[in-house]
Amino acid sequence: MSNFDKKSVVIIGGGPTGLGTALMLAKRGWKNITVIEKIPSSDYYEPDKSFSYQIDGRGQKLTDSLNLTDKVADLSVANTDFYLTVIKPDTTRKTKKLPIIDPERKTAYFLPRSELIQLFYQEIKQYWQDSIQVLFNTNCLEIKIIKNHLKIITQSEDNQPITLTPTLLIGGDGLNSLVRQTLQKSEDKSHLFEMQRFPSPSSGMRYKVLTLPPQFPLSEEENDISTSTIAYAIRSSFKEKNKAISLGLLPFKNPNKTRTANIITYADHHIWQLKTPEDVGQYFQKAFPQIPIEKILSHEEIERFTFSQGGTFPIPQYCSGVYKIWGKPDNNQGTAVILLGDAVHCFPPDLAQGVNSALEDVYIFQEILTETQDNLSQALPIYQKRRQKDIKALIRLVQISYPWQYNQDILQKRLWSVNFFARLLLSRFLPFMFSPHSFVLIQNHQLSYSEILTKSNRTTKMLLSLGVIVIILIVLSLLLKR
Ligand SMILES: Cc1cc2nc3c(=O)[nH]c(=O)nc-3n(C[C@H](O)[C@H](O)[C@H](O)COP(=O)(O)OP(=O)(O)OC[C@H]3O[C@@H](n4cnc5c(N)ncnc54)[C@H](O)[C@@H]3O)c2cc1C
Repeated sequence: MSNFDKKSVVIIGGGPTGLGTALMLAKRGWKNITVIEKIPSSDYYEPDKSFSYQIDGRGQKLTDSLNLTDKVADLSVANTDFYLTVIKPDTTRKTKKLPIIDPERKTAYFLPRSELIQLFYQEIKQYWQDSIQVLFNTNCLEIKIIKNHLKIITQSEDNQPITLTPTLLIGGDGLNSLVRQTLQKSEDKSHLFEMQRFPSPSSGMRYKVLTLPPQFPLSEEENDISTSTIAYAIRSSFKEKNKAISLGLLPFKNPNKTRTANIITYADHHIWQLKTPEDVGQYFQKAFPQIPIEKILSHEEIERFTFSQGGTFPIPQYCSGVYKIWGKPDNNQGTAVILLGDAVHCFPPDLAQGVNSALEDVYIFQEILTETQDNLSQALPIYQKRRQKDIKALIRLVQISYPWQYNQDILQKRLWSVNFFARLLLSRFLPFMFSPHSFVLIQNHQLSYSEILTKSNRTTKMLLSLGVIVIILIVLSLLLKR
């Protein structure tokens, strides 16, 4: 009998973290893995979660180790082929290749969230059915602490309660993680599992996702249709701050798949005040005279959009505790719990690091399981020690790297550009003194988040010193001229 036969794993959440962890553990030889997911099926369409992910070198560490990167690439548009067409209200169009891509870095891949989830799920169904069962339509209601074990209480679609007592419990259940809340309640005084929140100018931005037909018309002209692999930014005719809007469409590989347009704007924007589908329809008609809106947006879609809740970018946050052990799980007399992905760090999507940092969590957990030969009592404390510094750095990077990209404040956006290009230029000529902006450094998956933050902080200090020297020189020259 192998080491894993008697042990069982429960993973709460079948998002990228949960399914990625299930595959990683199954590949290591763990059996008896149950994933609890409340959505009805792997292909269940959640319009407000139908955004696109960019899987970069960091996320690919896990997909490489699962031999899935080629399949990810097949489903994606590579960032090296990223073209953006800007369509202005006066109908003029400009297509450009995405700048700020470092050709030295690993190619990153754009694919819809749903396709990543489907890819992981299909892999489970095809190769790991003996080790992993995914229970869709099943909600984890409560986690009870009973002596040295945790009891997971779930309820399925047919109201059947299922109770599980795992050796290893993975919290892959996202921002409002029940697993984390359980850990928090279990600690009397410590704030180990309480989310620490850090302000950012992009948190609180509201978003909704519009679903558009594949290859939708761009004008009344015949054959003037959108290309699935091209990204679009469709600018509105409104110029006032609280009425102006942009439809942002990321590229999709599959030409027959519906496109999605993200609408991201401030909480007090005019669009969120519109309460009826008629008002929303009229607003879109006036905002986008350059495209045939009535041919693109059905009444049903406008209605769905009007009444959908949408979402709000979360405040950057993390908790410093990521594990807890009850009893002796390695002797099958206890439960070890670990939090991964959004359950432990969550932030606005400014840097496209949500899913990448989550997949990197799983990869690092895998590395440590290898080092410790899957001994949980050893692996979990090592994981916390090794990952904590990077999680903290990541949250700081989200705060400082590019929170002004949503046009909240034009002055701040311009200052950001000055800072960005100053760092780029200085780092080209004096690379031993200055580093490029953290927004560029983040593309380098070989640098950890804490290494990126150190480089960024060092450059900030150098720039400040340079600024002080320039001011002193100006003052001195003015004094000498007198
Ligand atoms: C608008 C927006 C755009 C984004 N864009 C990007 C991007 O471009 N790039 C990027 O890297 N990241 C992006 N992100 C962030 C990214 O989506 C998350 O970081 C990522 O989904 C984290 O994965 P996860 O599996 O940890 O959590 P989730 O994806 O939140 O998955 C958690 C899963 O757990 C399930 N669940 C929760 N509680 C229970 C329960 N009690 N019982 C059963 N099931 C439960 C949920 O249904 C869900 O399926 C974006 C986020 C938003 C909001």
